[in-house]
Amino acid sequence: MKDDKGLLIVLSGPAGVGKGTVCSALRQKDSSIEYSVSATTRKPREGEIDGVNYFFKTHEAFEEMIKQDKLLEHAKYVDNYYGTPIDYVLDTIEEGRDVILEIEVQGAKKVREKHPEGIFIFLIPPSLAELRDRITKRGTETADIINKRMDIAKEEIEMMDYYDYVVQNDEVDKAVERVQSIVTAEHCRKERL
Ligand code: 5GP
Repeated sequence: MKDDKGLLIVLSGPAGVGKGTVCSALRQKDSSIEYSVSATTRKPREGEIDGVNYFFKTHEAFEEMIKQDKLLEHAKYVDNYYGTPIDYVLDTIEEGRDVILEIEVQGAKKVREKHPEGIFIFLIPPSLAELRDRITKRGTETADIINKRMDIAKEEIEMMDYYDYVVQNDEVDKAVERVQSIVTAEHCRKERL
């Protein structure tokens, strides 16, 4: 019997690879894909808006969300919590709409355990040097945090075989087209179920 649920799409990749840019370009091109807004204890960067980029939480409020099972997954990343509010994701796919989660690899693993039917995409930079350059140019992190993020990035890149698809983000438009092709192909695959 054909399954009418939307696709649960997970986009991972080292911080700084451009997941956010690819996601927002994707949403502009294809408004049928919903975006899951994560909760975090990280402080907002300049220009980030509560409820749009993240739900910014205190440690206590985040831990309360964990206790009350309000998160599909959560992980600690460079001393902060990040997590996916569960209701929005499950309601969206139940209503037959696709949803994309932009999360790091530990969280992606947990999502896969609960939702093996999900589509797991890993975004890679053209090189590690290019990644460091992108994080540094963003100018939002101290040298110490940049080094920590680069160490995690190297570990994360080793996890890419765990994903269904690997997309290189050499140019945003091309990366978006590749992700769109994957989504289209996955819809075609579901047609036969
Ligand atoms: P940033 O601080 O640069 O916004 O995010 C740091 C890392 O946390 C990125 O790899 C980002 O994808 C990841 N992240 C964002 N939201 C979530 C989430 O809800 N869960 C998990 N596990 N990781 C997340």
